[in-house]
Amino acid sequence: MRRASQRGREERLEGIGVSPGVAIGVTFLVDDPGGRVVRMCLPEAEVEAEIARFREAVALAQKQLQDAKDRLREALGDDQAYILEAHLLMLQDYGLARQIEGFILDNRANAEWAVREVTSRLLEAYAQIEDSYLRERGNDIEDVARRLIKILSGTHARDLSLLASEAIIVAEDLLPSVAAELDPEKVRGFVTSAGGLTSHTAIISRSLGIPAVVGLRGIASRVRTGDTMVIDGTTGIVVLRPSPEALRFYNDERLREQQQQRFDLEERELPAVTRNGAPIILRANIELLEEIDALHLSNAMGVGLYRSEYLYAQATGGLPTEEAQFEVYRLLAEMSGDEGAVIRTFDLGGDKLHLDGFKPEPNPALGLRAIRLSFNVEEVFRAQLRAILRAACHGRLKIVLPLISNPDELRTAKRIITEVQRQMRADGIEHAKDIEIGVMVEVPSAALQAETLAHEADFLSLGTNDLTQYMLAVDRSNENVNHLFDSLHPAVLRAIKFASDAAAHCRKPITVCGEMASNPTHVVVLLGLGLRDLSMTPKAIPAIKRVVRAIDLSTAEEIANHALGLTTPAEVNSYVREQVSIHWAHFLNSPVYSN
Ligand code: PEP
Ligand code: MG
Repeated sequence: MRRASQRGREERLEGIGVSPGVAIGVTFLVDDPGGRVVRMCLPEAEVEAEIARFREAVALAQKQLQDAKDRLREALGDDQAYILEAHLLMLQDYGLARQIEGFILDNRANAEWAVREVTSRLLEAYAQIEDSYLRERGNDIEDVARRLIKILSGTHARDLSLLASEAIIVAEDLLPSVAAELDPEKVRGFVTSAGGLTSHTAIISRSLGIPAVVGLRGIASRVRTGDTMVIDGTTGIVVLRPSPEALRFYNDERLREQQQQRFDLEERELPAVTRNGAPIILRANIELLEEIDALHLSNAMGVGLYRSEYLYAQATGGLPTEEAQFEVYRLLAEMSGDEGAVIRTFDLGGDKLHLDGFKPEPNPALGLRAIRLSFNVEEVFRAQLRAILRAACHGRLKIVLPLISNPDELRTAKRIITEVQRQMRADGIEHAKDIEIGVMVEVPSAALQAETLAHEADFLSLGTNDLTQYMLAVDRSNENVNHLFDSLHPAVLRAIKFASDAAAHCRKPITVCGEMASNPTHVVVLLGLGLRDLSMTPKAIPAIKRVVRAIDLSTAEEIANHALGLTTPAEVNSYVREQVSIHWAHFLNSPVYSN
């Protein structure tokens, strides 16, 4: 705080909030020690001692990595700990360490220089590799090289022992091994220049429940270790050297969060029933298995959407195998209770995660994404289906198909599922004979053909994020057109109503699993349009349950019907906000969560 007054004025920055919550702490810069390594040519007589010094550094690096791996395994399980296994392997005699020793010997080089030279050559070779998985393994080599240089130049011990409690880690990018090495008891938050929602930093911070903001370009050059910093992992706001007013504001915010968490727990058992007695189903959207605890804390009715493509985002080894998927889906089946879990088959490609081996497309949102990609790499689709069908013997699982734009796609998927089941039967593999198959309604053609789809599927899932994107031709992640992205646009509301009525007409369940389901004012409209089943990020469930318990459906229906007759998104927004403030003013202050 003293430094804040010494080093000048408050600065406010905005990045991407990837792990919610407010953190106030002291920055700790994880710098890059790999930059300056001096080249020396040693006298012949010193070479042996240099090799011994290098071996000591390797032994220390192995110990650090082993400790970090154990900590990671304890916190997050084996799935994450394997990241460090590759680093340990590299340091074994026959690997990288052996080559570096050879370089010291042949060139009478100092160990730091040998590490830099050998690894730079390897990195150059890796950069030429076409396969992006192998190419990215270069990061592991760089990670190991930095660690060795740090130890050799005597700086390593300084860094981590200096980590104060209440530390906010600031880095260009946070290497998984560094993140794993940090003591979660002391770390309050993460801020990085690089990264997005699916980066390792994002995934690890969400799993550890630590607020994080990523995508803040140049942040590492703007702060020094010891600066005071506030981060809001929900909004993506970062305040550097906060003023006393800002500190007061965020301290209050943090207290409010803590108090809210206590209220939420107290209200955990209250039923989600409207004032006029209509039960509303509240489910959880999850991306990581670690979130299953949050699902139980929020008392969700199972998992309404499991975004399976996050398995690919987390894996460093490309697409997860059938076996690896089976393990995850089995746990999901066992842990998500009687209501079970809806597994969405991979929604890869497009503006989402890019699948290795596919050329970038000129218009990815309209290209080979989701079910289209699954049909294109059918062996991948079949492996995923086998994993789900096997896991469905351990609990209740359903399948939902993303980006269906034509009933034929549903028919093809159903045919493939039947074939997979037939083959499994022939091979004597235990599997679910009956599994519910649903369709994501998230493109306009699917909304307009919802009746046909509802007739042929077991259930519908309304993906309001993509439905809004495709109805309005507005890229959901492009900040230049963000102001046009509005799920209360009358055309989107009509499409939602169309799908909701179609499902009701065919007596098929329909769940809303887009962001609208976690927005209190949007939920009023959704209930008014006839929807009774909402799936959202687990953290949003308590706030949405309060909305449900406060309203009566006839008022919500009046609001929704009136909104449907309006002509512009601005009119709908101001009308709905006005109505909500008349009937339930307190909703307007509820936090809006996003997945
Ligand atoms: C949606 O599109 O609304 C949805 C739930 O899926 P995602 O956000 O993963 O595309
Ligand atoms: Mg979608």
